[in-house]
Amino acid sequence: MTTVEKTESARKFLPRIVEKRWDHNPLERAIFDRWQNEGTFRFKAGKGGRPFVIDTPPPTTSGPWHIGAVAAYSQIDMIARSQRMHGKSVLFPIGFDRNGINVEIYVEKHSKVKMRDTPRQQFIDRCSRTLEDLEGQITNIMKLVGLSGDYDRKYHTDHESYRKLTQATFIELWKRGLIYETTRPNNYCHECGTTIADAEVDYEDLPSNLAYVNFKIEETGEMLVIATTRPELICACQLVIVNPTDERYSKLHGMHAILPIYGRKVQIKPHPNAKTEFGTGVVMICSYGDYTDVLLFRELGLKEIIAVDPDGRLTAAAGPYQGLTTLDGRLRILEDLRSQMLLVKTENIRHRTPVCSRSNTPIEIIPMKEYYLKQIDFIPKLKHLAKQITFHPNAGRQILFDWINSIAIDWPISRRRVYATEIPVWYCKNCGTAFLPPPGEYYRPWRDQPPSAKCSTCGHTDFEGETRTFDTWMDSSISALYISKYQLDAKFFKRAYPVSIRPQGKDIVRTWLHYSILRCYQLTGKVPFTDAWINGLGMDEQGEKMSKSKGNVIEPEPVLEKFGADSFRFWNASEATLGSDFRCSEARIAGAHKFLTKLWNLSRFISSFPQVKNAKVLPSDKWILSELALLVEKCRKGYRDYNFFIPATEIRDFVWETFASHYVEMVKPRAYGQGFTKAEQKAAWFTLHTVLKNTLLLIAPIAPFMTDHIWRQLYATKSIHAQKFPKPRWSKVHRRYTEKILEFNREVWKIKKEKALALRDPIEIQVPKALTPFEDDLIRMHSLLTKP
Ligand SMILES: [Zn+2]
Ligand SMILES: [Zn+2]
Repeated sequence: MTTVEKTESARKFLPRIVEKRWDHNPLERAIFDRWQNEGTFRFKAGKGGRPFVIDTPPPTTSGPWHIGAVAAYSQIDMIARSQRMHGKSVLFPIGFDRNGINVEIYVEKHSKVKMRDTPRQQFIDRCSRTLEDLEGQITNIMKLVGLSGDYDRKYHTDHESYRKLTQATFIELWKRGLIYETTRPNNYCHECGTTIADAEVDYEDLPSNLAYVNFKIEETGEMLVIATTRPELICACQLVIVNPTDERYSKLHGMHAILPIYGRKVQIKPHPNAKTEFGTGVVMICSYGDYTDVLLFRELGLKEIIAVDPDGRLTAAAGPYQGLTTLDGRLRILEDLRSQMLLVKTENIRHRTPVCSRSNTPIEIIPMKEYYLKQIDFIPKLKHLAKQITFHPNAGRQILFDWINSIAIDWPISRRRVYATEIPVWYCKNCGTAFLPPPGEYYRPWRDQPPSAKCSTCGHTDFEGETRTFDTWMDSSISALYISKYQLDAKFFKRAYPVSIRPQGKDIVRTWLHYSILRCYQLTGKVPFTDAWINGLGMDEQGEKMSKSKGNVIEPEPVLEKFGADSFRFWNASEATLGSDFRCSEARIAGAHKFLTKLWNLSRFISSFPQVKNAKVLPSDKWILSELALLVEKCRKGYRDYNFFIPATEIRDFVWETFASHYVEMVKPRAYGQGFTKAEQKAAWFTLHTVLKNTLLLIAPIAPFMTDHIWRQLYATKSIHAQKFPKPRWSKVHRRYTEKILEFNREVWKIKKEKALALRDPIEIQVPKALTPFEDDLIRMHSLLTKP
């Protein structure tokens, strides 16, 4: 024995990784701090070339994060980390969307004050304080799960610098005639006390009462039964329609119906919007029960009667029911109809009801004066732009197309709320002409006087400030402009815009994605991003949407505490292919944890062998390297498509099913030097380390903590996250043996099991001819007794 060999056997191949197990809790935190201290992920703008800019969704700071959000952001982090390993200079901004109704509702609930009963400034201050707490909690989770973002330059949509950009873009679009103010029926949420856009309306099948009400026909004196879920709106009825093909009613065309309770008469007309199968097939058209009503009032030029006021109460038009809420009014009019024998019957049905997506309360359609941003004129252009963007997965584009095709109205952008960007407009107290200040400052018209203004119409200098604010999407829709320093750093903007990727959930395609494309195109003439990444949503274990009311929300902190960020991230990446909804289950996360434990133990085992620079590899080594080459190819492709399901599952299968189970078992005797030459032993060491090293690189964006820890103990002092992805530089020729090797090993194990032999026990089995090149390894692996 040489001296070298003596020392080696003396060391008995002790693992160089000292910790016996991966103790995620102290380790992950220490590693994160190290990244921060070393500035591992600091964005270096450089000079030339395009940086890879991620338009990170600024989370709405209106409540603690649930596990689905944490999962989504951990995948966005995989985009950042994998792009760095592709050699890109990555800007991964961390922003917070801190404007609007969501925030206000959260504050109202938690501090038990009502926005409308609190002085404006006081309520604003309260919101700011609450936001600090919430942001702290969310930032903490971001760090726990390992987001490699730019924490030094966090941005906030409620910051002066952001709000003044929103205001400046409004002033610009106003000047270009893309903004107008008008009164028209629109979605109104009483709970939120504001007009909301179609994009913020959800539909729910809610239980409802369908009332069959008698209307007298003026001409014949007969009774006509009309079924309605909104009898309190009878006072606002201007027309009764029947389907032109409905022969039951063809003789009524042109006749008149007399409204019960009110005695006013309205025309009966044939119109295709009347559905013969709903109720009695006769429909009352009133202002406004639903969107059909809005369209018919417009189409037929009917005069609207406002029956519901902005507080959700019936107006004078409702006569005896004035001042009641719509619900109370409904019950009262039903009583009256019943006592007057005008109520034929009522039916319990489920009715597709429009509800506010924020407060979940049914909305009313009432006319309000609001500011609008033009979007109808841009529909053909928007479709064209949607084709320019590469979607991951491709199906995301269809969600956007479907939404664009359904747009029927310009975007109402004014809100009657307070914690949001103010609409920068004052009005002349003398003649009402609007005054817009020059862009570049943050304006609060509800509080401040306009800067040295004189009315352009009458020369008056007394102004009244606008009190309304913007829809929050007015702010968040220009995040791509804000992070690429639009109007702030022309040089950087030119290099960075359009930004590289917009990652987001499919639930906000109709809002965030659509509004971003619309707004940024109107301002720059370009799409805001070249790629859009549309993630599925996190559901509970049964596949149900998580919500507080259902009590099925999974809190992220205990899960991260229990399993660690790497297991959480690996679970999420391997759970579902990009774009599909995924189920959050502790058992599945535990499964991911098991895999990472396997990877840890395997790394520790391999770490006990010396690293050699080069070796003359044997057929078994060539075989596993050929499989590694394929793995590298597949992972690179998965990362290029931002589909982390591919690398996660391919690596798991390779490590578990091929590398650990077969190759490592085959070369154990050789690695320990049992019956092999020194050169052959070295080849095993070389190959074991080559596979481990490359596997760590490939999985680093998904499990960033453990891989960096192992990497720095074994391979380099510099972080694994400063490395590039490997290239598939090994021949794939030996892959032709894969099936046969796996088959043979399984066969031997099966036979030993049947004979109740231990894996190490000798057995008489011949290595098949096709596997002759692997004979030496296979014989020692299975202790095969070959016939002489
Ligand atoms: Zn609402
Ligand atoms: Zn004036």
